[in-house]
Amino acid sequence: MSEQTDTPADDIELEDSPRSDFLGFELLLADEDLALLRRVRSFMQQEVEPVINEHWTRAEFPHELVPGLADLGIAGLAYDGPGCPGRGALVDGMVAMELGRVDPSIATFMGVHGGLAMGSIQLCGSDEQRERWLPAMARMELLGAFALTEPDVGSAISAGLATRARRDGDSWVLDGEKKWIGNASFADLVVVWARDEADGEVKGFVVEKDTPGMTFEVQQDKIALRVVQNAQVHLRGVRVPEANRLQGADSFRDTADVLRVTRMGVAWQATGCARGAYEHALRYTKQREQFGRPIASFQLVQDLLVRMLGSVTASTAMNVRASQLQDAGLLEDEHASLCKAFSTVRMRETVGWAREVLGGNGILLEHHVGRLVADAEAIYSYEGTREMNTLIVGRAITGLSAFV
Ligand SMILES: Cc1cc2nc3c(=O)[nH]c(=O)nc-3n(C[C@H](O)[C@H](O)[C@H](O)COP(=O)(O)OP(=O)(O)OC[C@H]3O[C@@H](n4cnc5c(N)ncnc54)[C@H](O)[C@@H]3O)c2cc1C
Repeated sequence: MSEQTDTPADDIELEDSPRSDFLGFELLLADEDLALLRRVRSFMQQEVEPVINEHWTRAEFPHELVPGLADLGIAGLAYDGPGCPGRGALVDGMVAMELGRVDPSIATFMGVHGGLAMGSIQLCGSDEQRERWLPAMARMELLGAFALTEPDVGSAISAGLATRARRDGDSWVLDGEKKWIGNASFADLVVVWARDEADGEVKGFVVEKDTPGMTFEVQQDKIALRVVQNAQVHLRGVRVPEANRLQGADSFRDTADVLRVTRMGVAWQATGCARGAYEHALRYTKQREQFGRPIASFQLVQDLLVRMLGSVTASTAMNVRASQLQDAGLLEDEHASLCKAFSTVRMRETVGWAREVLGGNGILLEHHVGRLVADAEAIYSYEGTREMNTLIVGRAITGLSAFV
C-alpha cells in the first residue's frame, strides 16, 4: 500500500468530487492502477461529459472519442492474453464504474468490446486465435461485438438459442437472427453464438466485418443508452472458416464463463451510474436555494442524499469483494449475479432520488441526471435481468432450481 494510507481523506477527495468514494475503496488499488483510474476520470470529465448529451439526443455514437479511449489502454484491462493489459479484475471494475459515472453508454460500448468480445476470445479462443485478434483489439484498432440474444429469446437463451451452425468442409454456415447487438453495425469482429446442428451444442464464431450474408439494422427510438448502437443482425448463409470457430467453446457452459466475468462489469457500471447521479444531486442541492436556503439544508433532502450515498457505498463494497474473488479465481456465477441484481436495483432507486431532488431540472438533459435515469433502465435489464440473476442466487442458496 502506498503513502495514501496515511492521509486517506486528502488523497481521495477529488477536485470536484463530493467524496463519493466515502469509505476510500480506491485506496485498495496499487499506485499505477490509481493513476490509471484518475486518467480515465479526467478523460470522461473533460472529453466525454461536455459532448455526450448532443450524441444522446441524436442517438449517434461518438466515433471521434475512440482514439482517446484507446490511448487510455483499458480495453480488456483484466485479461492477460497477448497484448492485453492484464491488470486484474478490481481495477477493471473500478474503471467500469468510472466510465458509468459519467456516461453509461460509453461504459456499455467498452463493456461490449473489451469485456464481452475480447473476453470470448480470451476465455474461449485457442492460443493462435488470441494472438491473432487480442493485440489489435486491446489497441482498439479492431472493435468487437457479442451476438447472443435473439428476437424471440433473451432470458431463456441457453436452451432456446435458435441460430444454426452447419459444418461444411473447412467452414461453417450460420443462419439466424440476433437482436440488441451493441457495436455490431460498425464492429470489425462479431462474436456470434450459434447451435451446432450436429451435436446441438452452442458454439462461438468470430465473424469478420463485410462477411457476405451478415447484415444489420440499427435499432431506432430507444429511450435508454441512445448513444450505443444496438442492431438486429441478420445471418443468411454466412460462411465462416473453421479457423474462426472459438476452439474452446464447446457448449453454453463456456459462454456462461464469459458472462460471469462481464456481469461483474455491469454491476460496476451500474454503481458508477448511481454514483454519478448522487454526485450531480449533491452539487445541485448545495447550489439551489428555496425558501431562502440551499435545499441541501432541508432534512428530507439530506435523507435522500444519505440513502443514495449508502446505496453507492454498499454496492461498491459488494463489487470490490467479488472482484477480489475473481482475481483469486474464486468467483462463482451466483456471486456475480448477486452483485448485478443488487447494484442495479440500488442504481434504479438512486437515480430516481437524484432526479427527485433536482425537481423539474431533473428531466433536463443539461443537468445529466435525466440521461442517467433513462440509461439505468437498460443496464437494469441487460446481462441478465433482476429476475434471472435472482433465480441463479436462489438456486445456489437453496439447492433448488426455480427457473421453470
Ligand atoms: C441496451 C441493450 C443492450 C444489449 N446488448 C446486447 C449485446 O450486445 N449482445 C447480446 O447478445 N444481447 C444484448 N442485449 C440483450 C439483453 O441481454 C436481453 O435484453 C436480456 O437478456 C433480457 O432478455 P429479453 O429482453 O429478451 O427479455 P425476456 O427474456 O423476454 O424477459 C422479459 C421479462 O420476463 C422476465 N422473465 C423471463 N423468464 C422468467 C422466469 N423464468 N421467471 C421470472 N421472470 C422471468 C424477465 O426477467 C423480464 O423481466 C442488450 C439489451 C439491451 C436492452
